[in-house]
Amino acid sequence: MKCLNCNSVDIGKIGKQHYYCWNCCIEITVNGEKLDLYQVEKDGTVSSLNDLFIEEIQIYTGLQ
Ligand SMILES: [Zn+2]
Repeated sequence: MKCLNCNSVDIGKIGKQHYYCWNCCIEITVNGEKLDLYQVEKDGTVSSLNDLFIEEIQIYTGLQ
């Protein structure tokens, strides 16, 4: 799997369906055919990136 944001393959698995990109510091969760992307801020705040990556998510899930 590659990062949808930076295309890095430097993805760490941090949970059953939970991945972390070490390059751009986003988290990706896989829920069946659905992907969720999150940005974790330095203060621990988590914000969804789904709205920014609608197209990438659709392309990714279309390839599954
Ligand atoms: Zn990345």
